[in-house]
Amino acid sequence: MTVFAVCTVVILLSMQHLLMRDAETKTLAGLTIVRNLVTSETDEKTIHINAGDPDLVKALSGGVMLQIVSPDGRIISRSPTLGANFLPAHVGGPIQTYWGRAPVLTAGFRLPDNSTVQTVYPLAGVFSVLRNLELLFAAIGGGGLILTLGLCWLGTRKVMYPLAVLTEIAQKITASGLNQRLCLETSYQEMAVLADTFNKMMERLETSFRSQQEFVAFASHDLRTPLTIIKNYAHILSRWGWSDPVISREALEAINKTVAATERWVNDLLLLLQVEGSNYSDKSLFRVDTILTEIVQEAKLLSDHAPVMICHSEPATVAANSEYIRHALWALLDNAIKYSGPGGQVLADVRIDRKRDFVRITVSDSGPGIDVEELELIFQPFYRGKDHVSKRGHGLGLALVQAVLKASGGQACVESKPGQGSSFTIILPLAESKN
Ligand code: ADP
Repeated sequence: MTVFAVCTVVILLSMQHLLMRDAETKTLAGLTIVRNLVTSETDEKTIHINAGDPDLVKALSGGVMLQIVSPDGRIISRSPTLGANFLPAHVGGPIQTYWGRAPVLTAGFRLPDNSTVQTVYPLAGVFSVLRNLELLFAAIGGGGLILTLGLCWLGTRKVMYPLAVLTEIAQKITASGLNQRLCLETSYQEMAVLADTFNKMMERLETSFRSQQEFVAFASHDLRTPLTIIKNYAHILSRWGWSDPVISREALEAINKTVAATERWVNDLLLLLQVEGSNYSDKSLFRVDTILTEIVQEAKLLSDHAPVMICHSEPATVAANSEYIRHALWALLDNAIKYSGPGGQVLADVRIDRKRDFVRITVSDSGPGIDVEELELIFQPFYRGKDHVSKRGHGLGLALVQAVLKASGGQACVESKPGQGSSFTIILPLAESKN
């Protein structure tokens, strides 16, 4: 717009300059014609010039008029088109003045008898052309401005439309409305990326919210079972127990056992939540093979039916939360012992992969193995194998293993076939200060 304004001013000034130059040329050309006429008549005493002479009028091209004023200011002769309006006498180069109210350019010279001969060129035409040009440029400029503003408005509306939709969707999002998605048909790449990012964020939120709801549902369901047991035994005690020492002892033992199991479950649950919410920064360097040896020693004492042993071990230092890793290893060993039937055995080993700088800790058992369709489910919180519901546990062990490994920058995996035992492996990156 500024460029247009500057160009307009330049064009108008140039046009004014050219038209004024043309007017000056015509005024001076007329004056030259009259001067030549006067020169050719200098031999006479009296010069007779009739401003209304048709031949002279014809010779003065482009509407140039003539005025002859006597030394005492009387008008001797003037072009008929000049009419009766006063035009001050002027001697010299062209100047701009007013004839009546009309702007004119005038130039003149003195005759030998001191009269003044002056040519007059009306500037109304020049000014009219300039005014028309100004109006034309103003119209173009105004139209251009309106068009530009209109296009800007349309463009802004087009750009802002996705944001308006986004705002509308964002206002609709509540805990029960996390299924809202942004459906944008836009040619703007950035907006498409924004919509995609928003939808992915909503998907993550929805999944996380749903799994939290499931989590709470499972937790309350699992809590109901021990509460029912305790309530029933309390009822038995209140009705018959106090008078019957056998019943009262049985009831108290059952209550104690249930409370202890529930306490373990609550602790596991809290630990799982703590690990999932940990900021991954609480790490220290420790030897994971040493921790495994300690746990295997403890497990040996607890396992009455399946021997537990380490078949291979290499020193491996990792950077992680040692308590979390201890819980994870313990959960794997506990499962291996729990699911190995009598006569089975549990083997653990620690192997370093120097090429890829990680340590692999494997716990294998000779248990019943796991169905293929269950392999993907067993790491989910509260999932319990369909054949193992009667075994002690709450389906939190492997979820904890998974969460710990995620927090430690490692991973957990399983290889198993029904009837051929299971092999759980956790992979941890080796610490930078190698062993
Ligand atoms: P829990 O053992 O308390 O049921 P986990 O999360 O530790 O919970 O395990 C989830 C499920 O994975 C178990 O219910 C079981 O079906 C299966 N599982 C875990 N470890 C083994 C194993 N060593 N052998 C066979 N099945 C296993």
